[in-house]
Amino acid sequence: METLRLFQDETIREILERYRVIWALGHASSIMGWDSETYMPKQGYRDRAIASSELSTLSKRLMTDPEMLRLIDKAEEKLEDLNDYEKGVVRILRRGVRIYTQLPDDLIREIAKTRQEARVKWADAKIKDDFEIFRPMLEKVVNLSIQVAEHLGYEDNRYDALLDLFEEGLTYEKARNNITYVAGELKKIFDEVYNGDEYPSQHELEKVEYDREAMEKVNKEILSMVGYPWDRARLDVSLHPFTMAAGLDDVRITTRYEGNDFRRTMYSVLHEFGHALYDLQVDPQLRYTPLEGGASLGIHESQSRFWENIVGRSREFTEVVKPILDEYLGFTKDYRVEDLYRYFNIVRPGLIRVDADELTYDFHIVIRMEIENMLVNERLKVSEAPEVWNDMMEKYLGIRPKRYSEGILQDIHWSIGMMGYFPTYSLGNILASQILEAFKREKGDIANYIIEKDFKTIREFLGEKIHRYGGTYDPATLIRMATGEDINPRYYIQHLREKFLGQ
Ligand code: MG
Repeated sequence: METLRLFQDETIREILERYRVIWALGHASSIMGWDSETYMPKQGYRDRAIASSELSTLSKRLMTDPEMLRLIDKAEEKLEDLNDYEKGVVRILRRGVRIYTQLPDDLIREIAKTRQEARVKWADAKIKDDFEIFRPMLEKVVNLSIQVAEHLGYEDNRYDALLDLFEEGLTYEKARNNITYVAGELKKIFDEVYNGDEYPSQHELEKVEYDREAMEKVNKEILSMVGYPWDRARLDVSLHPFTMAAGLDDVRITTRYEGNDFRRTMYSVLHEFGHALYDLQVDPQLRYTPLEGGASLGIHESQSRFWENIVGRSREFTEVVKPILDEYLGFTKDYRVEDLYRYFNIVRPGLIRVDADELTYDFHIVIRMEIENMLVNERLKVSEAPEVWNDMMEKYLGIRPKRYSEGILQDIHWSIGMMGYFPTYSLGNILASQILEAFKREKGDIANYIIEKDFKTIREFLGEKIHRYGGTYDPATLIRMATGEDINPRYYIQHLREKFLGQ
């Protein structure tokens, strides 16, 4: 087996042999998950839910099998003698096993059950714009999250245990130092840009309807231009855009077609392309191992943001994408590059996170992070959370939601038990700019490559610095290796200052 060249240690080889079945279950679960969002007939959901949960139970059983645990212990004892890849295998499996074994089965079952129920209640509450429908469920989710944190353990902040689940090593203190700092600086840039007239707060192209088939062609052309390998990857349609990696040669992204405001589908495609490229450029020798996935959600998000914002929302990209738009959509012929660029970079305070522009996105994350921290530490009651949400929206964005559905009920995350996930989005934004800085140091101005449509150089740089390692290194180590320093939010602020204020 070709992967074994990187893995010489006997114990690690034994672990990897056992892991192949777990990998295969994950492979099947991924395809099943992708299918339920794309082509599965509606009524298939019951059987699919049962099949998925059986597979994940089986996977858990194999992971926590006494022989597997013995092998992980054994490998840990000789950690010093292992190479980085072998150490990575031990680190990732230890983390997985720890989460599986420290959480009692009853709690895991309760969480799974609550998720199903809470998701339904959340959807209903959102449609009816009635927070009371969701409130008891959110209380339950908070309560279960507290129990999870208590079982996993933490040093000084209970929220840290939850953050670490989604971003290895992340603490509230670290998240705050980065994200709250960013929000404060962005506020200054935003106020200046919003009151100036360089970037519009609306654009007539938002209302223009497009032909769906034409837009599908645009998306495919753009993907081909940036180097999407169609024999190893797909593009399909789903309600919410996502990326699924079933393996290193089967990565699938989705988008949706709203019918107007074509930049929405176009940028969702570039975003998911960034995620997909990460999975596609992992070293093939890490195939079937626990290192096949990325280093963390935050680092994954940095890759999607890199392509969506840094590459995709640049003047140069607007220039190279314009011929594609003109050919298939036609109506863009009436607009100059500069005008399209302004349409792609509309800046305005909005209530909805997923629609936020580069200058306002992180405000939405700060609000969620602070509320999560207070809820989990029992310093805020769920019933008071909507008001706190609205107050913070007013503080950062100067607007106040009039409806719950545009405020605290907008996101699905809490209803499916994901408390501590949101900060990874902002980490992604911050890291994308830090990686851009590293690119600049080695290769010069990225604009020169974009305008030449030399996306290969950009892909190879990201592959070399980040992608090829998969999950070998923890996120903090990988960032230091790739950029020469710890996560540093200053590059992000600097990038946005340059872009929006020219300074
Ligand atoms: Mg993403």
